[in-house]
Amino acid sequence: MQENSVPSSIDPFSFYEKIPDLKEAQIKKLHKLCGPRLVDLCLHMPTGTIDRRNLQPLYMASAEMELTATATVAKHIAPYQKGRQPHRIQVTDGTATADLVFFNFGSWFAKQYPEGSEIVLSGEATLDQKGSLQFLHPTLSKAENRDEIAKLHPTYPLTAGINQFQIAKAISWAMGELSSAPLPEWLPESAIKQHELPSFMSALNSIHSPEDGHDIAKDGKARTRLAFDEFYCWQIALTEARKHTQGLGGITHSAPAGLTQSYMHGLPFALTGDQKKSIADIHHDMEQSAPMLRLVQGDVGSGKTVVGLAAMVKAVENGHQAALLAPTEILAGQHFENAKKMLEPLGITVEFLAGKQKAAEKRSIKSRLKSGFIDVVIGTHAILQKDVEFHNLSLAVIDEQHRFGVRQRMNLQQGDYQPDLLVMTATPIPRTLAMTAYGDMDISIIAEKPPGRTPITTRALPLDKLGDVAESLKRVLEKGEQAYWVCPLVEDSEKSDLAAAADRAELLQQFYGNDVGLLHGKMKSDQKDLAMQTFKDAHTKILVSTTVIEVGVDVPNATVMVIEHAERFGLAQLHQLRGRIGRGSLKSSCILLYKDPPSQYAKERIDTLRNSEDGFVLAEKDLELRGPGEILGTRQSGFGVTRLADFSVHKELVSEARDAARETLSTGLTPEQSQALLWLMHIFEKQDAVKLLASG
Ligand code: ADP
Ligand code: MG
Repeated sequence: MQENSVPSSIDPFSFYEKIPDLKEAQIKKLHKLCGPRLVDLCLHMPTGTIDRRNLQPLYMASAEMELTATATVAKHIAPYQKGRQPHRIQVTDGTATADLVFFNFGSWFAKQYPEGSEIVLSGEATLDQKGSLQFLHPTLSKAENRDEIAKLHPTYPLTAGINQFQIAKAISWAMGELSSAPLPEWLPESAIKQHELPSFMSALNSIHSPEDGHDIAKDGKARTRLAFDEFYCWQIALTEARKHTQGLGGITHSAPAGLTQSYMHGLPFALTGDQKKSIADIHHDMEQSAPMLRLVQGDVGSGKTVVGLAAMVKAVENGHQAALLAPTEILAGQHFENAKKMLEPLGITVEFLAGKQKAAEKRSIKSRLKSGFIDVVIGTHAILQKDVEFHNLSLAVIDEQHRFGVRQRMNLQQGDYQPDLLVMTATPIPRTLAMTAYGDMDISIIAEKPPGRTPITTRALPLDKLGDVAESLKRVLEKGEQAYWVCPLVEDSEKSDLAAAADRAELLQQFYGNDVGLLHGKMKSDQKDLAMQTFKDAHTKILVSTTVIEVGVDVPNATVMVIEHAERFGLAQLHQLRGRIGRGSLKSSCILLYKDPPSQYAKERIDTLRNSEDGFVLAEKDLELRGPGEILGTRQSGFGVTRLADFSVHKELVSEARDAARETLSTGLTPEQSQALLWLMHIFEKQDAVKLLASG
């Protein structure tokens, strides 16, 4: 594939700056709402329809009814005081009369629809105090143009300052432009036949000019086509990315030898079957010449650390260095303690590298890394800074950084080879989603928990029991145990998030004084680490926080998790939070405080959570209920993984799209095919993959 631009008289990927009848400010809003490219407008999907096909007589109108009718203009009543009073048009259709009311519109109407002319109107009927019929700002057209109005109208998600009429106008303009672009077909014929898919363009056409509800329904042919396109695009991009990695030179490690055996024998417990299988997968990958790209998914507490360490031992056994990266210093510190305990007895040199160390210390570590005196380095992303040079790094392990995109940004290239990469995540990712977001990685799953865990008791209570719950923590502290208290997630402003947590901390301090710590997102990272460390060292007994409690932090002494406004959290997130407790042999409990009465949907989530501790079951449910952004932690960045495809509806298309992509890429691409795929990549903004395609 060539990375040249798409040949076309119009460029659907250029930013739109002018749209007939829309103001510049409105165009800016559309950029934000839909995306700035012309094609983005076309990809803005309607969520419903208004049916104006049936013309009805005016006498049928009742309050709040949506109605479309033909009528004759009887009289224009211009306002006495402009700007204060509305312009009124009196109309009649022989069965009844009505007033059409327009604020801030001048004499334009009188010219456009003179007295005696026939019009079509559509809008919501209201009755004024006297009981006479009115329409406020109805949609109007001349009777001869009735087809403009008397049809099925898609309705779109909006933003303040843009109404349905304007967005429809913008989209219809963009569709007109796009229709002159020579869009090729990029799907293989087999896929089209199997689902009798329309072309991309005709799918868009029927979505924006629907003839019936099926045309915009997510499980209708048009939306299926677009969902298929999107999954297919992902699969092509991922396959190419994977090919690219496989083509890079890696390190071929040899089969397990003495050091690995000593490590295994030295473990203080028997590995679970899934841990063994994951280690075997990893070792196998490391013995290949292509660089490893593997994701280990294991629920919180499933024991991923020993698996990661086993990989590092193998690197060292082969005379290489290994690095372990954690998202925060506190997590990195926890790993460092662990690794020292388990690896140093084997004669492996382990060091810690993070931002907070003294400059001289860092300098010394860097120089020993470069000369190869350190075998294993553990730290934060500081390890990946340019000035950190390795002697011969062959493995990087990344913990708790499943967040989509992190892996892609990571450049580990060492001289002329690419080290093996192992990513560990506690987020259970449903298979279909993993195939889309991580399709270029191999995946190992640790589903089994180590034996001897006490199940967590999960209780749901209405919020007005908050005071009782706060008081009951007394018994927890008396036992010498600790508690987390997570404060409501306030959707629209982080500030109020913070206020809620601070308020709660204050309330709890009235009971428990200095035993209460506070942790929130607005704190600097060293402040956060400090708050966390203080809790870990049991200098504080109750940690009040927003949702920023670090994943992976192990405080076995914490046995209670209170979550306020549990109804506002996703299942996956509640599960993650709950996973902070129940890590030791102590009996733990999770208390979900919900706003009473909970919605059906909130109730469903809370019940699901109470009945299951299996992260995969919960994630699958969450994918249905809330979509992928929640699971992959990308929602905040506004990137929901897929744009048009909806996992709760189109899930089964993922593997079909993968098959189609394989079919396409199984033989060499013709220039036409390359060109077509290029279009597709641009539409779904997978240009990074295009670059790979072009360079590799
Ligand atoms: P996570 O997968 O959440 O990172 P960890 O690796 O921190 O989990 O393991 C959680 C706890 O379980 C640790 O204290 C660890 O020593 C212990 N553990 C791990 N594997 C086993 C096992 N097979 N049997 C018993 N305990 C285990
Ligand atoms: Mg962990």
